Amino acid sequence: MKKTFNNIQVSGKTVLVRVDFNVPLKDGVITDDNRVRAALPTINYLTEKGAKVVLLSHLSRIKEEADKAKKSLAPVAKKLEELLGKTIKFVPQTRGVELESAIKSLNAGEILLIENTRFEDIQNGEVVKYESKNDSQLGKYWASLGNIFVNDAFGTAHRAHASNVGIASNIAESCLGFLVEKELEMLSKGIDKPEHPFVAIIGGAKVSDKIGVIDNLLEKADKIIIGGGMAYTFFKAQNHSIGKSLCEEDKVSLAKEYLDKANGKIILPIDSACNTDFKDSNPTITGIDLPDDLMGLDIGPKSIELFKSILKDAKTVAWNGPMGVFEFEHYNKGTLAVCEAIANLKNSFTLIGGGDSAAAAIQLGFKDKFTHISTGGGASLEYMEGKKLPGVEAIQNK
Ligand code: AMP
Repeated sequence: MKKTFNNIQVSGKTVLVRVDFNVPLKDGVITDDNRVRAALPTINYLTEKGAKVVLLSHLSRIKEEADKAKKSLAPVAKKLEELLGKTIKFVPQTRGVELESAIKSLNAGEILLIENTRFEDIQNGEVVKYESKNDSQLGKYWASLGNIFVNDAFGTAHRAHASNVGIASNIAESCLGFLVEKELEMLSKGIDKPEHPFVAIIGGAKVSDKIGVIDNLLEKADKIIIGGGMAYTFFKAQNHSIGKSLCEEDKVSLAKEYLDKANGKIILPIDSACNTDFKDSNPTITGIDLPDDLMGLDIGPKSIELFKSILKDAKTVAWNGPMGVFEFEHYNKGTLAVCEAIANLKNSFTLIGGGDSAAAAIQLGFKDKFTHISTGGGASLEYMEGKKLPGVEAIQNK
């Protein structure tokens, strides 16, 4: 078990906290501040306990020097001031004497935010990836700025970067923050210790992105519902005609292998909402076999009813990936119906593994109707694959 705030004394200490402030920005304005809000419990706890708080986060990707102007964390510092009602010291650097002396002069309960950690990926116009490739000098340097490291950035927990694994490996004490602790608790309940029947719903464009999840969940779930573009590779494996639908030819035999191994556990759609091209206009509903000129862009109404009937008795549901091209108004019905069906389950543990499905649920106003909506798409996907998350593994054990 990893250390948490229960196992660490933070009062008077300089605490480096890796948070996830990777917010969407439009013309320098934050369009969704959920990630900033999600970090508040940890920040508030630390300031109340009298720690000197130093926050680190990445913001988007930095591929060239010119990206830096648009991807500064300065707007996040402002947002944080607004949410907390107190001053945040923003240091527009990721290293150097100005940063070091600003940290030294922090008083108990004060908060400092350093500039976007991914600025370290470009030095003097050259791609060096010191942050994203976990450069050992950088991890050591950042670790030298504090006494304790707290990882509260779930969204990057599946990456070994200097600002998580690098710092954690070079500092005397480390623990998980509240957000990461809660994510792990929920994912563990849903995926590792599910109450049965456990139904997983997997969708999205590609089989190749979700193979690991199917593989891991075949052992744990009672039923795996597969929708979205990836379903057509499975149909192909059953020798159905799939028209112009998405298909990963090199994954057809693997899909067949899974279908054989699953022994009826894998549930596929029984009809499709199709169009002649990849466009948002009135659908044609077909059965499992599609004519040559159509492509499946969503599950059809009979599949919706079938999936609902399977979900009805589930005690645990884990959902990752849309049932169709939900960005198209005419092809979002499957995703919406599944989302609503899960949201309306009573007395079940319901989990969304981030990404598009989480966005859909929040957009529909179902945010509070799920037991847990993960804040980290990639990280929760890797957890669902049964992989260890390096950002968590690097934290000290109790
Ligand atoms: P993923 O990132 O793997 O969860 O995939 C999400 C994407 O899959 C979304 O952008 C959907 O538009 C796309 N998608 C879902 N179903 C289909 C489909 N039947 N055909 C093409 N794209 C699809």
